[in-house]
Amino acid sequence: MYYESNTEKNSMATSNLTSRRDFLKAGALAGIGASVLPSAKALGEIYPPAKNRVAGPVAISSANGRRTVLKAMEVIQSGADAIDAVVAGVNLVEEDPNDSSVGYGGLPNEEGVVQLDSCIMHGPTSRAGGVGAIEGIMYPSKVARLVLQRSDHVLLVGKGAQKFATMHGFEVEDLLTDHARERWVKWKENLSDRDDYLPPHDPSDKNVGQNFSPEERHMGTIHCSAIDLSGNISGVTTTSGLSYKIPGRVGDSPIIGAGCYVDNEIGAAGSTGRGEANLENLCSFLIVERMRMGDSPQDACLFACQRIADHTKLARLQDDQGRPNFNVKFYSLNADGVVGGAEIWGGEGTFSVADADGGRLEPLAYLYKRA
Ligand code: ASP
Repeated sequence: MYYESNTEKNSMATSNLTSRRDFLKAGALAGIGASVLPSAKALGEIYPPAKNRVAGPVAISSANGRRTVLKAMEVIQSGADAIDAVVAGVNLVEEDPNDSSVGYGGLPNEEGVVQLDSCIMHGPTSRAGGVGAIEGIMYPSKVARLVLQRSDHVLLVGKGAQKFATMHGFEVEDLLTDHARERWVKWKENLSDRDDYLPPHDPSDKNVGQNFSPEERHMGTIHCSAIDLSGNISGVTTTSGLSYKIPGRVGDSPIIGAGCYVDNEIGAAGSTGRGEANLENLCSFLIVERMRMGDSPQDACLFACQRIADHTKLARLQDDQGRPNFNVKFYSLNADGVVGGAEIWGGEGTFSVADADGGRLEPLAYLYKRA
């Protein structure tokens, strides 16, 4: 079940909910250990519980991941590795035709083709996988996990990524829903002089570029990180990326260190929002490194927001006070199970969290308050 706040959560009777202790006990009784973790078997390797730690279980996601975190917790509760939990969680959004920012139903590129990006990282092995600009595959997060598990590579793109997916039994499907097609046609009809191409220009010129308003330029992505019953951490990010992008454009979501990063001893981080800004600052890696230096997850996310603000130097990307005129959001958890998130522009932003007591929305910290 979902609580709207911590207060509500705390005031709810927990009698009908599984407590964290019962949760862990149930796992112990069921004989859940490293040797029976499903993905450990799938990989032919054994991941021992993370050292000196019984944190979690916990799952975090972007605000559009309310069902995602609950699903991830359900999978964790069955004894699975966090990597399988986060993938199962984001699959719900990838296959949802009503989420126009991820997977099936995602808004297409400027030619009307849905191109998807995803990456995943597995804490116990520090291995990563990703796919960029993949077409026709509804679950790019599953393909990213396959790249990690069944190739010696980290990132496959375009046709090669699709071929790798079909080789492993994925079907190529038409991912453009009528709703997404109609929105794309409307964009073509009304906004076709506003695209992502820039003429040669003076960097101090504010008027160059498109500066799409959020209504014109839909963004969105889903990230999910989790700690499993063994205290091991994984994270995944998946998206259809920026709507009406130049074909072949790859955002931050499939790039390890930008869209997602995990260090099993430290924590995990992931992002949504303007991918170009995150690509230039590799913020998921930065957040994990800040946590290594002692920052809380929330402070580390705020640090990354500030880094982007400091590095946003072009006039076309600034408001009249020199602040970024776009948003980026970060979500993080540390190895002790503490969660946090922050965005550049906020006030009412939230992120999804689930632990053994159920799900809730937590507020995102912010650098600047939205008017
Ligand atoms: N970060 C995604 C990208 O740039 C988009 C988003 O999250 O809105 O592709």
